[in-house]
Amino acid sequence: MSLKPHVAALIRQQSERLIELSHRIHAHPEVGFEEFRSSAWVGESLSAAGFDVRMGVCELPTAFSAARGSGTLHIGLCAEYDSLPGIGHACGHNIIAASAVGAAIGLAAVADDLDVSVRVLGTPGEEVGDAGGKILMIERGAFDGVHAAMMVHPAPHDVATPRLIASSTFDVVYTGKAAHAAMYPELGVNAADALTVAQTAIGLLRQHIRSTDRVHGIVTHGGDAPNIVPARAAARYMARASTLEELQELRPRVHRCFEAGALATGAALEIVGGSSPYAEVVHDDPMVAVYRRNAEALGRRFLDSGPAVERAAASTDMGNVSRTIPSIHPLIGIDSLPAVNHQPEFAAHCVTAAADRALVDGAIALAWTAIDIATDASLRARLVRA
Ligand SMILES: [Zn+2]
Ligand SMILES: [Zn+2]
Repeated sequence: MSLKPHVAALIRQQSERLIELSHRIHAHPEVGFEEFRSSAWVGESLSAAGFDVRMGVCELPTAFSAARGSGTLHIGLCAEYDSLPGIGHACGHNIIAASAVGAAIGLAAVADDLDVSVRVLGTPGEEVGDAGGKILMIERGAFDGVHAAMMVHPAPHDVATPRLIASSTFDVVYTGKAAHAAMYPELGVNAADALTVAQTAIGLLRQHIRSTDRVHGIVTHGGDAPNIVPARAAARYMARASTLEELQELRPRVHRCFEAGALATGAALEIVGGSSPYAEVVHDDPMVAVYRRNAEALGRRFLDSGPAVERAAASTDMGNVSRTIPSIHPLIGIDSLPAVNHQPEFAAHCVTAAADRALVDGAIALAWTAIDIATDASLRARLVRA
């Protein structure tokens, strides 16, 4: 029996369970590093399929590593399952988790025939933006020995090599001095004004950065009452650039805007975090070509041009994996337009029939990609050698 139809049939047999897993995670959204139920459910699904599952690896309570097979080519599948604050699974990580489980179950059934080992890495905290789960898991050895890493990510369209850029997330805290805002304003140091100056400076900076750079953020604390001069103001910001190297040039310029706020007002500035940035994703072209062929054989159509491909940019800690291990991170379409990622409307789309179809197609396409890599002598040799 040819392996590909066999594996596809196996995954399709499991589709009801996979969809139920996806919907259950979706119905119980948990933010980064708090995915206790979600990680347990994904781990249990793999355990039930004969995987050796170790929960809480790398000193991360919501991470796991699940292994099956003893072949010489080690395929890694990344399962994300964190949600976004306030808007639930608006990035569709429920689909990522379920498609990784489906691919793993299908691939494990033929692992011996292929001389392959399958490892599913439960990678928490992708949306946190600094020191994400994959970064910590790489540092702590969870990816050691993996020759190729794969995942699919839901989006409005299928895109083979989405632009996934480097990103640094950090907190900014200004400390001023409280005072009665009307009676003794001259005794106050206004921390919120420092933030206003910084935001104005960043707005002006945008004229003089690369068109591919991004700077954006939110105010997380702006004061306590209008009649108290704000003694404390805080913000969480992200700076992004095409590569880690370009990000290194951008970050000090953004920091100087925050220093400007401190200088103008006399508030003290503290910048916290941002030391473990997300790297850009380096798509492994030969593996992408294999994935694309397989996804197209399942009837999926890829978007190759237009603003959604050329202008859109996001970031992921899969970038850090991809700079260490040959990786793919294609987008899989869930037919959500006009809803796009990180909108509550997109969250609603992540449990539709199109989303369920995407998770099954994604699982099959990933498993087929692994089969092709394992059986193509030159692709395989290139990865095992690397
Ligand atoms: Zn997201
Ligand atoms: Zn995401």
